[in-house]
Amino acid sequence: MSEYDVIVIGAGAVGENVADRAVQGGMTTAIVEAELVGGECSYWACMPSKALLRSAAALRAAQDVDGAKQAVTGGVDAAAVLRRRDRITNDRDDASQVRWLDGAGIDLVRGHAELTGAKRLRVTAPDGTVTELTARHAVVIATGSAALLPDIPGLREIEPWTSREATTAKQVPASLAILGGGVVGAEMATAYAGLGSRVTLIVRGALLQQMEPFVGEMVSASLEELGVRILAGAEVRGARRVGEAAQLDLSNGERVVADEVLVAVGRTPRTGDLGLDRIGIEPGAWLDVDDTMLVRGFDWLYAVGDVNHRALLTHQGKYQARAAGDVIVARAKGAPIHDEPWGAHVATADHEHVPQVTFTDPEVASVGLTEAAARAAGRRIRVLDYDLSSVAGASTHSDHYEGSARAIVDEDRGILIGATFVGPDVAELLHSATIAIVGEVPIDRLWHAVPSYPTVSEVWLRWLEAYGRPA
Ligand SMILES: Cc1cc2nc3c(=O)[nH]c(=O)nc-3n(C[C@H](O)[C@H](O)[C@H](O)COP(=O)(O)OP(=O)(O)OC[C@H]3O[C@@H](n4cnc5c(N)ncnc54)[C@H](O)[C@@H]3O)c2cc1C
Repeated sequence: MSEYDVIVIGAGAVGENVADRAVQGGMTTAIVEAELVGGECSYWACMPSKALLRSAAALRAAQDVDGAKQAVTGGVDAAAVLRRRDRITNDRDDASQVRWLDGAGIDLVRGHAELTGAKRLRVTAPDGTVTELTARHAVVIATGSAALLPDIPGLREIEPWTSREATTAKQVPASLAILGGGVVGAEMATAYAGLGSRVTLIVRGALLQQMEPFVGEMVSASLEELGVRILAGAEVRGARRVGEAAQLDLSNGERVVADEVLVAVGRTPRTGDLGLDRIGIEPGAWLDVDDTMLVRGFDWLYAVGDVNHRALLTHQGKYQARAAGDVIVARAKGAPIHDEPWGAHVATADHEHVPQVTFTDPEVASVGLTEAAARAAGRRIRVLDYDLSSVAGASTHSDHYEGSARAIVDEDRGILIGATFVGPDVAELLHSATIAIVGEVPIDRLWHAVPSYPTVSEVWLRWLEAYGRPA
């Protein structure tokens, strides 16, 4: 039996960060990992997906600048892209991350963890060895999420890809059908079209429909230009393999045939096999937490990252981890808790200030509320739209720059509460909007934040001109 101040279950990016904060606060800390240290983001999600997207995006960017495009005489080398993806994901070897844990003073226990009671865990290693662990102060669940497979007749039997297979594929299929029009579906459609697959994207509603409506319209148009067939408003009713090919029957009577099928319709929490029933929590549920990441009803159990379903993004999970790690230390030491709205021990930005980049082509970068969400929340708002191709920076950036940007102003408070950019390389514009929104910078003051000429960031000036100068 080993005893630690803090035990973290799951060594994804989020678990690593909470453990690091706990150690920095003087707590003895163990982290338990069943697969690879680094988790989904490093090996099966963010990093490999962005690696699969980048080469074709770089090529298309060069093709859109006269003088550079003449130098582009070939297409994407898919084999080289896959090799680069493998380099970026360290061939799924977690040795460097294990060294980092070691250097940070965090003990790694390899194996599958389950709770056996309050603050007590059992870890079963791959060789069957069992280790019992006890936490003096806190147990943190950071077990992430897995791809959701919907209950469609025949779907499991055809062994579809999930995001894991899509991001680790050894070969590019000649044809790929993708179910789901969210971020993963849109990014993988872009990636595989860029790698040479014939992609069919099957979307129940509209593409990227949680975002501003112009986002889905612009991304759909560019995917179609890349050769992706988008079937919007369609549902898969049944699936089967005919020979090597997968066959999908749709609600509109259409039949889609493809070499592989990728299911990207959502995520499910990895809480089914954690022994949660032993402490009165329903296994398989998302874990409901307060802003300090404490699971409601407990004073020792925390949940951070995807598993609490607040914002399924690595950077938000790491933000939660910093808050949780620090609050665990403070509570253990009887120090004051800073749980006021923007205090050090809370992750309040999860509610309305979540930044997200979707690495389609064009990129999408958004933070805060959309127009629809702001109206639904009863805010009195003004919407500022601007065609990004009209700023001087766009004309030097590329020859056919297309982009759009929307800001949402809260008229009662005179501040921005939402921003969305669509266009080439807009990801790097996002943090300016995040700072303006989180900092609640008054619109009047933004007039004094002068964007550089000639950059696409001059959209900030155009928004202000559209809004009007203070009298
Ligand atoms: C295709 C794809 C692309 C994405 N791209 C981005 C992106 O560009 N940017 C972004 O911010 N987010 C992106 N995300 C989301 C991001 O991957 C997740 O938000 C992030 O990985 C969540 O981190 P986590 O630490 O909560 O969980 P995970 O990274 O899933 O880590 C959980 C860890 O817990 C371990 N574990 C689970 N159960 C147990 C157990 N019982 N015992 C021991 N260990 C256990 C797992 O093995 C795993 O290592 C993407 C997701 C997908 C699917």
